[in-house]
Amino acid sequence: MLYFPLKFYRKETVMSSHPLSRLRFNFGFLLESPVGDSRTTELDYPSIIVAEDVTLTPLQGQFTATRISEGLYLNGKLTSVIETPCVRCLTNMNLSIAFTLDELFYYPPDTAPEGSYAWSDTGFIDLSPLVRELSLLEIPMKPICGEDCQGLCMVCGQNLNEADCDCEDDDIDPRLIKLRSLLED
Ligand SMILES: [Zn+2]
Ligand SMILES: [Zn+2]
Repeated sequence: MLYFPLKFYRKETVMSSHPLSRLRFNFGFLLESPVGDSRTTELDYPSIIVAEDVTLTPLQGQFTATRISEGLYLNGKLTSVIETPCVRCLTNMNLSIAFTLDELFYYPPDTAPEGSYAWSDTGFIDLSPLVRELSLLEIPMKPICGEDCQGLCMVCGQNLNEADCDCEDDDIDPRLIKLRSLLED
């Protein structure tokens, strides 16, 4: 393995122009570095598919990877916008999110406790699982597109933000009222 001594903080910008780029970074040069060596990496993805269920448009921010005796410690702040459906009207909306990276990738990888992240022998780390997890944690339990969202008519399914329908509340099947209260709980 090539060994590049890092005597100073080095700033590197990772640009992605391809939507399928992954959050995989080579920190092999830090594997043999003395404890305390670090590198700051900037992220600026116009859009990135992090996982099957998470696309971030954009994903920006920076993090610092620091060599510590247990492995590689990552610390940074990322901001993004994630698309998620409103629980009332089911329309997709863009939610601005921000989250903190604060994670140790253990090295050697077999020292990683269960449920934690490992720094592979190849020197690569993949941030996709971590970024996916942190992004999803930022979505509220019941995201709504606006406090005044009227939701869907439980009878005909009309999006009441877009237009009224002719259904009368009184005509609603009692089972649907129950379903609605369940949905709102
Ligand atoms: Zn809504
Ligand atoms: Zn209706």
